[in-house]
Amino acid sequence: MLKKQNYPVSTKMLIDGELVASESGAELVSTDPADESELGRVPAATAADVNRAVAAAERAQPEWARIGPVARGAYLRKLAAALRERADEVLELEVRDTGNTITKMAADVGQAADTMDYFAGLATELKGETIPASSEHLHLTLREPYGVVGRIVPFNHPIKFAAHAISAPLIAGNTVVVKPPEQSPLSAALLGELCRDILPAGCVNILTGNGMPTGDAIVRHPSIKRIAFTGSVPTGRAIQMAAAESGVKNVTLELGGKNPLIAFPDMDPAKIAEVGLAGMNFSWQGQSCGSTSRLLLHEDIHDEVVERLLEAVARIRVGHPLDPASQMGPLNSRRHYERVQSMIAKGNEEGARLRFGGQRPPGKEFERGYWLQPTVFSDVEAGMTLAREEIFGPVLSIFKWRTEEEAFDLANSTEYGLTASIWTNDIKTAMRAVRRVKSGYIWVNGASGHFYGTPFGGMKSSGIGREEGLGELLSYTETKTVHFMGAFA
Ligand code: NAP
Repeated sequence: MLKKQNYPVSTKMLIDGELVASESGAELVSTDPADESELGRVPAATAADVNRAVAAAERAQPEWARIGPVARGAYLRKLAAALRERADEVLELEVRDTGNTITKMAADVGQAADTMDYFAGLATELKGETIPASSEHLHLTLREPYGVVGRIVPFNHPIKFAAHAISAPLIAGNTVVVKPPEQSPLSAALLGELCRDILPAGCVNILTGNGMPTGDAIVRHPSIKRIAFTGSVPTGRAIQMAAAESGVKNVTLELGGKNPLIAFPDMDPAKIAEVGLAGMNFSWQGQSCGSTSRLLLHEDIHDEVVERLLEAVARIRVGHPLDPASQMGPLNSRRHYERVQSMIAKGNEEGARLRFGGQRPPGKEFERGYWLQPTVFSDVEAGMTLAREEIFGPVLSIFKWRTEEEAFDLANSTEYGLTASIWTNDIKTAMRAVRRVKSGYIWVNGASGHFYGTPFGGMKSSGIGREEGLGELLSYTETKTVHFMGAFA
């Protein structure tokens, strides 16, 4: 279906094992963020399409649960292998659809397949317990799937998140309805094609469309009791409300971050300048939930780190995301571009010091599309918008601190608590920081890495629940407690 370089592409969505148009015939256009040309069209699913998909998932679920975890794992491994075979095709589509640079996105396709393999490998870990609650009886727990799971994913890593979205629920014996992002929906169609060819009909349904009505209809569907959402805090809160209005549902949320990187004075300023840039993920235009967008520097190293960092940021090569030499591409969509620009304007208005960027880069190739220079502000203070709100763009805010207390207060001064990065050579300082910083995922002398098997997720408004480990798999099951009584007396 999706042949390389055959743009604009026209895709279908997966319902009940078939690639179909929306019942209404409506479509969404996906725009190339590099030049605003049309990249492709996808169906815009209506509430009627959601009903069809959920009905198909309900029909498929009992047999999917019956075949057992090992057989389910085998299906998922087959899907992972098929995805790897089409890695080049997916990669090109992802790079063009997201604007993220090809050198970084190359890892995403592999990680999408690796995630499927990882959860396939956990298939036999769906264990219950035997509990010695009394000496006369046998007490045990069974883990049972919810039934149909709804998952909604954001735009920054579409194939990786879509693959992740189906993996743990399927292994746990559920069937799934997934909504990919509106701005970068094309790779999901390819995943849909692979699922159609490999999985029993109805086990995975992929519905392209807007948050409203598609995402909302999934959340509110009475047959979906388990929902997992990855995206922004405001949408996460809207989903919690919609879920509560439509039933008693189990909702987990992977939301935004305003993540601190705290550098202590015993660190080499050159190293901190290097990791301060790397942690910002400029090659994804900062569009990564775990980006360390707040750089908290001790006053002894502040000036030298800033000087070195500004030299390095000026060398970042902004260019077409398909060019392997590019180190930063365009922002994902017009709406997002305008929002990031408004945050930069607020930074200027509120008195932060713009040290680099903030503008569209010069040059003919950047006249169209959602291009922005990498942007650095220093002299940012806790009350400013730049200090409090997630930008999810290529904007780094630098703070200066004097005492540890100030550093910890600054680190904890937002509503977010997703990741944090702590840099010191002193183990006692590191331990104090780890205890004091309220974030769900902390790197000491590192940033950005994810490791299978280690739970990822946020504290405070950054989320509810943990993913990427055994806990995620088990979160797609309900516990049934059984007491064998009379006959054992
Ligand atoms: P978003 O605007 O919250 O959208 C996320 C998804 O929700 C999209 O598929 C969106 O559809 C859908 N949606 C919007 N309104 C909805 C509603 N009322 N009901 C159901 N679904 C709805 O987030 P985004 O801009 O795509 O992504 C950026 C955000 O995701 C950032 O805050 C980032 O930090 C966060 N994020 C978190 C993690 C994590 O693991 N913690 C990972 C990646 C990203 P449309 O596309 O049609 O709007």
